[in-house]
Amino acid sequence: MTFFFETYGCQMNQAESSSVERLLVERGWAEAPTADESDLVVINTCSVRATAETRALSRISHFHAQKKRRKLAVVVMGCMAERIRDGLEARFPRLDRVVGMFERGTFEGIFRAIEEGADLGHAEEPASGGYLFAASSYREGTFQSYVPIMNGCDNFCSYCIVPYVRGREVSRPLADILDEFDVLAENGVREVTLLGQNVNSWRYVVRPGDAIPELDALPGGRPVAGSTLSFPDLVTLIARRVATARRIATAQRLATVGWIRFMSSHPKDLSDALIAALAREPVFCRLVHLPVQHGSNRILEGMNRRYTREDYLSLVSRVRSGISGVALSTDILVGFPGETEEDLEETLSLMREVGFHSAYMYHYNPREGTKAASLPNRIADEVKKERLARVIKLQHSITASRMRARVGSVATVLVESVSRNDPDELLGHTELGEMVVFGREVDRSAVGNFVEAELVSLRGRTFRARIVG
Ligand code: SF4
Repeated sequence: MTFFFETYGCQMNQAESSSVERLLVERGWAEAPTADESDLVVINTCSVRATAETRALSRISHFHAQKKRRKLAVVVMGCMAERIRDGLEARFPRLDRVVGMFERGTFEGIFRAIEEGADLGHAEEPASGGYLFAASSYREGTFQSYVPIMNGCDNFCSYCIVPYVRGREVSRPLADILDEFDVLAENGVREVTLLGQNVNSWRYVVRPGDAIPELDALPGGRPVAGSTLSFPDLVTLIARRVATARRIATAQRLATVGWIRFMSSHPKDLSDALIAALAREPVFCRLVHLPVQHGSNRILEGMNRRYTREDYLSLVSRVRSGISGVALSTDILVGFPGETEEDLEETLSLMREVGFHSAYMYHYNPREGTKAASLPNRIADEVKKERLARVIKLQHSITASRMRARVGSVATVLVESVSRNDPDELLGHTELGEMVVFGREVDRSAVGNFVEAELVSLRGRTFRARIVG
């Protein structure tokens, strides 16, 4: 039998789709070339923005209609499935199953029922409804993988729906995270991104029988049972586990994990201990994502971000002085209710002052159920779009000038794939996430490897490069 996934939203959703896909592959299913040829379509939805919900609804409607014409199972999962489950079931009665955020334990039963042609209404329900981390989110044949380390958020930024659909923060156990790194190392994964809505909230209480050798490597020595580990400890422990895997891989002349990233990191929670841990562990990429959202204290307060512009700038300076060669990326939200031209200027001036290497920029849209949705002084759509355009224009010019300054230098590049547009070209990216193109002189066997490359020229936001080692 065959499956097809349509995934919307963030990296966490992509990781969750990959883990559900693993379940199917382990049961003997294969990926269909297109949705229209598959026996099962899984739509993994996102609620963070209205546009993502609208797109998912239109795809659900499309497959719901197909069910009249052919044998097809349709399963909807993700944040929207959690948020409006009853509405989905009422509007699309032929949907086979809507799986909420805390019902991942039902997937085995659902897939078994589809295989047996049984009524999905009788698929087994899980005994309890907590969030379940998958054993692995690795997708066969890829060099990059996500590793979720926590789920949910307790911050309640006033514009954000995440705490309502993903629930309160829950941390993944330490041994499970380290074990997943073993799986990734065995499969030759080169780049890993640790995921969580706020990775700095990860916690683990050491248990008496914990037989994790890396615990001895913590700066203060092996912690006693009952002590609580936090994200900086996890950084050290993962780096040790990866170093062990690298020793084994090097002896066997195999490639292994070379870069680790993490996202997202709430600025109010990024500690000096984390800066020190990152500085000690070069396997963690020198690009830190630090979502500022806005440059005006008035708007930051309305957003309930719980830091000021001054706090943020002070953190930037500590990160820069603590981690040599680090670059910063960010998220910027424009058009929050009540935002004035002066507020926007504060954002633009903060962007100039920090000089972010890259940014994800978007404009505010109210999400029903959040505090900001009921705020007065909404900004008109055309004003939001015009302000966002100014923010994007400024960031593009900052990014371009930072990238121009790197032309002629040598950087490590992970070669990812053959270009779809030109099979003679290979594509890759740097530690700072910049796109790189190699010409026909580079052999395809470089795909999946780290290479040292001279960044020869820049077109748009893509380097052309040549391998020098
Ligand atoms: S930190 Fe704020 S923006 Fe991020 S997931 Fe939590 S509530 Fe949403």
